[in-house]
Amino acid sequence: MSQTPELVVKDLHVAVEGKEILKGLSLEVRKGEIHALMGPNGSGKSTFANTLMGHPRYEVTHGDILFKGQSVLEMEADERSRAGLFMAFQYPVAIPGVSVANFLRTALNARLAPAATNGSGAPPAKRGIPPKEFRSLLQEKMKLLRMDDTFAGRYLNDGFSGGEKKRAEILQMAVLKPEVAIMDETDSGLDIDALRIVADGVNALAGPAMGVLLITHYQRILNYIKPHYVHVMVDGRIQLSGGAELALELEARGYDFVREGKEVSAS
Ligand code: ADP
Ligand code: MG
Repeated sequence: MSQTPELVVKDLHVAVEGKEILKGLSLEVRKGEIHALMGPNGSGKSTFANTLMGHPRYEVTHGDILFKGQSVLEMEADERSRAGLFMAFQYPVAIPGVSVANFLRTALNARLAPAATNGSGAPPAKRGIPPKEFRSLLQEKMKLLRMDDTFAGRYLNDGFSGGEKKRAEILQMAVLKPEVAIMDETDSGLDIDALRIVADGVNALAGPAMGVLLITHYQRILNYIKPHYVHVMVDGRIQLSGGAELALELEARGYDFVREGKEVSAS
């Protein structure tokens, strides 16, 4: 495939509170591709995810992140997400009084907003997607994801189980239709139900219109999602890339061989 990658990360160096965490990370994600980014704890996976989404605490000291051909380094987190870069909310807050449906409608309207203003400076003519149209979109997505109708009426994350939080996340992805979705699955705490929800959701939504970067410590989730590429991050860099079989090798051998291989491969 010679298609231009949607997401291009070039020799990225990132510091947190003056300490360099990412030390030259390069990666390309095209629409239609599923990439798994794996690596031991502390290797910088979440730092990378947070940097992609524009978290202000993460300072890019070198390199670039291009999304649809444009650098996003000067863009705020909300601009990036409106542009079509999606990050599942890792530590979702409960919003009592705001239903899942209302939250999603607000998020979708924000995503649609730039097109509506048309750069003319005039206020948008439309008030976003009409309620009726939104309801049928939501119903369609919930059907696709085999979710119960009542879910949309619940208050966001208010008393949600781990699995229900994941369900809200996946539904958000379905409604917003990002070009690239980044999911940081911080392993621990995800029970098998939650894992299945994420996996089924990614499998239902992944397709020619979306690229996925699935960040995970354990290969467990990759029993349910077959990535096209697997990358192993060690000490702030991708040390090894391969196909789906690399995840199985990591499962069998642990991360040590990648670290050791780093030294061996030079000889
Ligand atoms: P991973 O997700 O691969 O486990 P992280 O990106 O969370 O790795 O962490 C990589 C390193 O960066 C760790 O040494 C961690 O202590 C440090 N780090 C990450 N975020 C912060 C932060 N907000 N403040 C200070 N140190 C951080
Ligand atoms: Mg992490």
